[in-house]
Amino acid sequence: MKTHQEIRDWFLEQQEDREHTHWHASSLGSCISGQWYERMGYKKTKEIDAKQLMIMKTGNAIETAELEPYHMLAKAGKIRIGTQEELVMESLGMMGHPDLLEYDYERITEIKSTNSRSFKYKSPVDADGNVVPEASDGHVLQTAFYMMAKGWDLGRIIYFSKDWSDMLEIPVTLTDELRSRIEGIAGTLNRALEENKAPTPPETLVYEPALTFNKWGGSKPSPAKWKVNWQATYCDYHIHCMGDEDRGEKAIKEAKQLNKDGVIPDES
Ligand code: SF4
Repeated sequence: MKTHQEIRDWFLEQQEDREHTHWHASSLGSCISGQWYERMGYKKTKEIDAKQLMIMKTGNAIETAELEPYHMLAKAGKIRIGTQEELVMESLGMMGHPDLLEYDYERITEIKSTNSRSFKYKSPVDADGNVVPEASDGHVLQTAFYMMAKGWDLGRIIYFSKDWSDMLEIPVTLTDELRSRIEGIAGTLNRALEENKAPTPPETLVYEPALTFNKWGGSKPSPAKWKVNWQATYCDYHIHCMGDEDRGEKAIKEAKQLNKDGVIPDES
């Protein structure tokens, strides 16, 4: 059993090894400014803590378990697979490592483990009671990038609920819209690199409480609430970008206060 310190050292090594010669597809859903700060080597506001380490460790274990049958079939010569293969698109200056490449079907698979709450958000129910699976935007962009890089048409994201041991498989279609969004993000990042200046973040990312609305449909929608944008919540560059190390905590307090005061978010 590894200690937190050992896992932390391993994680930091991985981060150091992470090449800073390209943008990373796994960050496509993250704040565009944050991606720039990371590539430019700015010091992070906080070090990774024990809880985050354990979440990562569990995520890795789940991925390994999910891939085991594929490895066994590949070993028996029944299928041809690749895992964590490096895919690079020099035209975009971007790279990444998909969890699973199935050469017989020409299919990319990304495996993501989530907690039950996040899992539930990925399987909302429409007004007729049907589950309408919905992947995270960043995961769709990441998978779509791998499909572009490989020139394959089949992609999917498998979500695994750590609390419920439930699985959700969501296919990804590489649409023109997805292609142009990925090209747009890469274009903005590459321009920022040339100009040596952080890209302007989209307004909704600048720490002010963003809105979340009930996604469950059905007969009893819950009221809209104020919530800090998740990208800002997980951002490690508050001090560089906002000039305030505690901006994240302050925004969380502001959001709580707005909810307490019953301020109704504007849905527009
Ligand atoms: S502080 Fe906000 S805008 Fe700046 S890098 Fe972090 S998430 Fe992006």
